[in-house]
Amino acid sequence: MTTICRLVPERCIACGLCAIYAPDIFDYDEDGIVLFKEEPEASQQFVRATEQKSVLKAAAKCPVRAILLEKEKRR
Ligand code: SF4
Repeated sequence: MTTICRLVPERCIACGLCAIYAPDIFDYDEDGIVLFKEEPEASQQFVRATEQKSVLKAAAKCPVRAILLEKEKRR
């Protein structure tokens, strides 16, 4: 099972919480809206096993559910 993280920037209220919990994954544009640190243009990204915990926590803490996690089965 692989976890995919999707961002919904239209929902983001620029609160800054996600980068506190997962600073290696999330960053912000000049307006404070969430994006992926490594791939700012991407709307989704695979979550590395080592980052699962922090990404899960960030998603749980996001007050507007702008960070969505989905499980994907890999063959
Ligand atoms: S926690 Fe949610 S609302 Fe806050 S900056 Fe991150 S994505 Fe945006």
